[in-house]
Amino acid sequence: MQTITLGGVSVPRIGQGTWHMGEDAAQRQAEVRALREGLDMGMTLIDTAEMYAEGGAEEIVAEAIRGRRDEVYLVSKVYPHNASTTGVQAACERSLRRLGTDTIDLYLLHWRGEYPLSETVAAFEQLREQGKIRRWGVSNFDEADLEELANPDCATNQVLYNPEARGIEYDLIDWQAQQNMPLMAYCPIGQGGALLRDATLQRIADKHTATTAQVALAWVMRYPGVIAIPKAVNLDHLRQNAGADTLRLDADDLARIDAAYPPPSRKQPLEMI
Ligand code: NDP
Repeated sequence: MQTITLGGVSVPRIGQGTWHMGEDAAQRQAEVRALREGLDMGMTLIDTAEMYAEGGAEEIVAEAIRGRRDEVYLVSKVYPHNASTTGVQAACERSLRRLGTDTIDLYLLHWRGEYPLSETVAAFEQLREQGKIRRWGVSNFDEADLEELANPDCATNQVLYNPEARGIEYDLIDWQAQQNMPLMAYCPIGQGGALLRDATLQRIADKHTATTAQVALAWVMRYPGVIAIPKAVNLDHLRQNAGADTLRLDADDLARIDAAYPPPSRKQPLEMI
């Protein structure tokens, strides 16, 4: 599996998302199993958040990583409405309890809210001193937000990125690369929707004996600073996603995708889901 340095640690460039896990008790065992199989396949970065199933996803992650915490690079996120001095501390402690661990590798502000960035960052730094988190970062920040943050300790910015949403190519991707700040691409396969049924992606997939999901993943990962975090419960999906690691798109493939999903020619507001 390709790796990248994130917050001083080597992590795989394909991780596992967890949004919508923990919402349906009937799915619980399948979700735990998928995450564990994903770890076996080398996708040892797990992305979760207090928001997902209001803590339910963190509980699924806890079950999946029990007995193998050391293998995992664990990412979680705090709600903006909890991003105050006392709120961050309490939210992180709740997440740690649910996750069944005493430290989170990377703790992100899920999106910008009402609290000053300086207050949230001070609270993150306090958690670091306490050993409750190893590093911190942000999510859904545009270039101007990162400029305002202006903090070299910010380990990553996690944003929406796939061929249907490529506005960040105008500025943000390059900005983060210049700062040596890896970018985590969420919804890298367009939430399993229309993108995976697109005729252009299908033609490219056929050419490489791959799947459209693998083409989408290889496409976001053509930038060396990008980490993809697809979510999959279906084991065939999981295998495909891990397998995307070895797929390389050529110039003709990229030109076809540009024709179907044109790159941005001007600044676009940051898209969020
Ligand atoms: P994804 O683009 O990862 O798509 C997930 C969907 O695609 C699921 O329905 C899954 O089905 C399906 N799928 C997965 N792999 C394949 C495959 N190989 N072929 C066909 N279908 C497939 O969307 P997400 O919204 O889940 O985004 C990924 C992660 O990013 C989230 O889970 C979350 O951790 C994070 N995220 C962060 C946000 C933020 O604001 N910071 C916002 C949104 C997401 P199945 O599960 O049945 O296998």
